[in-house]
Amino acid sequence: MRQSAPQLQGLVPYDPKYLPARAYLSANENPRDVETEIRQKIISAIRKVPLNRYPDPLANDLRDMIAEANGLDRDQVLLGNGGDELLFNIALAWGGPGRKFLNLPPTFSVYAANARLTGTEVIDVPRLADYSIDEETVLERVGQGDIDYVIVASPNNPTGKLANEEFLAKLLDATDALVLVDEAYFEFSRTTMRPYLAMHKNLLILRTFSKAFSLAG
Ligand SMILES: *Cc1c(COP(=O)(O)O)cnc(C)c1O
Repeated sequence: MRQSAPQLQGLVPYDPKYLPARAYLSANENPRDVETEIRQKIISAIRKVPLNRYPDPLANDLRDMIAEANGLDRDQVLLGNGGDELLFNIALAWGGPGRKFLNLPPTFSVYAANARLTGTEVIDVPRLADYSIDEETVLERVGQGDIDYVIVASPNNPTGKLANEEFLAKLLDATDALVLVDEAYFEFSRTTMRPYLAMHKNLLILRTFSKAFSLAG
């Protein structure tokens, strides 16, 4: 049998190696499950789902609700089966052979893994000793004009550092690359680039129900 694509060779499935413990911190899940009342609502909603039918592929009802809650239009909201699926879709759509992703390690390992899977070249601008972003180097590097997408996690996983808002604004002005600000922990930081969506076509913000909302399952 032929080999799979070369970029997949040697790849092993992700194993979080859960050992019996009193507290599980490694996946940043919420330690509390959803409230009983919410659980009941989820169960009764599932009872009404026609399981023989494909769901709406665009999930328009949920897009409308998320849009309304965030003062956006439906067209501005994209849903995935977890943020990880959207991160992969971004790599498919903005990466690929001959294209470049700017990464700011140490950060969420999924970004570099998706780049690898999609044959995208990873350009690393490592964080400084205190894990803050090397802002000057990032702005200088995007200024070369060959970066296709950048991902900035804010707060960053695993360091917890916020990106500087002024820096992100400068980055959006300095490049026509897609700038994805990963706000998976927005509900904890309450800091967002949301107001900049109206001014910058190249800004994309990622949020998730898996952390603060206790819905990783
Ligand atoms: C957890 C996390 C996500 C998304 O997780 P999903 O469960 O796939 O929604 C995205 N980015 C960061 C930095 C995360 O820590």
